[in-house]
Amino acid sequence: MLSAGLNIVGFSWITSPAATELEMIVLDWLAKLLKLPEDFLSTGQGGGVIQGTASEAVLVVLLAARDKALKRVGKNSLEKLVVYASDQTHSALQKACQIGGIHPQNFRVLKTDSSTNYSLSPDSLAEAISRDLTIGLIPFFLCATVGTTSSTAVDPLLALGNIAKSNGMWFHVDAAYAGSACICPEYRQYIDGVEEADSFNMNAHKWFLTNFDCSALWVKDRNTLIQSLSTNPEFLKNKASQANMVVDYKDWQIPLGRRFRSLKLWMVLRLYGLENLQGYIRNHIQLAKHFEGLVAQDLRFEVVTPRIFSLVCFRLLPPHNDEDHGNKLNHKLLDDINSTGKIFISHTVLSGKYILRFAVGAPLTEWRHVNAAWEVMQDKASALLARLSIE
Ligand SMILES: *Cc1c(COP(=O)(O)O)cnc(C)c1O
Repeated sequence: MLSAGLNIVGFSWITSPAATELEMIVLDWLAKLLKLPEDFLSTGQGGGVIQGTASEAVLVVLLAARDKALKRVGKNSLEKLVVYASDQTHSALQKACQIGGIHPQNFRVLKTDSSTNYSLSPDSLAEAISRDLTIGLIPFFLCATVGTTSSTAVDPLLALGNIAKSNGMWFHVDAAYAGSACICPEYRQYIDGVEEADSFNMNAHKWFLTNFDCSALWVKDRNTLIQSLSTNPEFLKNKASQANMVVDYKDWQIPLGRRFRSLKLWMVLRLYGLENLQGYIRNHIQLAKHFEGLVAQDLRFEVVTPRIFSLVCFRLLPPHNDEDHGNKLNHKLLDDINSTGKIFISHTVLSGKYILRFAVGAPLTEWRHVNAAWEVMQDKASALLARLSIE
């Protein structure tokens, strides 16, 4: 309400020194809570910026990485640039490649499977890179994910980052959802290796009590971002900018205008504090763990991938003679559950299996809600299985 009411449009430092400087400060705070390497702080060559969404975050770093690579290999080599990610990577990366002019055939979607719990294998990355190098292509961008959208898989940042670095590539880490959990010491291990990254993104508007939109992006070298995105029209010229003494966030993002979003994050950090925020995350993970336990106790169901954060991937086991391995069955169960109007769950497909997804992430969710949700699911499963056995 304050941010909307003050109606700040802080694109250059001079349009609102407070909005600009508070954004630098709160992103340094958040970087410290996440124990990000110092290179990401605004006190060095790097810094944080609030983007609207993770999609914009990956787009701006892809553009920065593209232009940095083209500077090295020549402007005419755009069609040789190759992007790497796993098949679990969010579609935002594909969109960024489309906008960034990456040749559609140079977007390497590397296969994952259950043997690595759907995380990207460093060997498959290394193989793909060496194959591309032998045919004269130029690997330039790797996107790893901590907490994939389908199943919250965690890519091994250290091993992947080493490969990216030794090939002179930009390494982006998308932790849009799971980054929040890494303010807890016991979950910080999932971003071990972030030291190798050139950029790191976490959505405070997902699981960090901050209203949409507030996507925190850090880069180690803010100049690469600025070189790709800055413009300098006459009507925006001012002493502070021209003396190179200030941060002008207009040069770190796609649009010119920008809201006072750091006020929201400042409010959350000041109001809750680290301990309460950690408690908030831990409670959700406990609730998800509780749900996982309920599923595991009911032998008609299976938990499909190990639960890491607050998402549980599970499914109803099909009868042995089921032709499509329970896919239609689980699709029907999803529809039956959601059409009660009491709860809403979503689905994904992994290794050809239709899977149900139960996510905890709302501030008002309590144990009783999780228990009630499970009862709805059990009831609908019983009814569905009874109907099947009559047919
Ligand atoms: C939610 C999510 C995104 C997309 O987020 P937007 O902010 O809506 O663009 C991208 N990547 C991951 C891993 C996500 O969880």
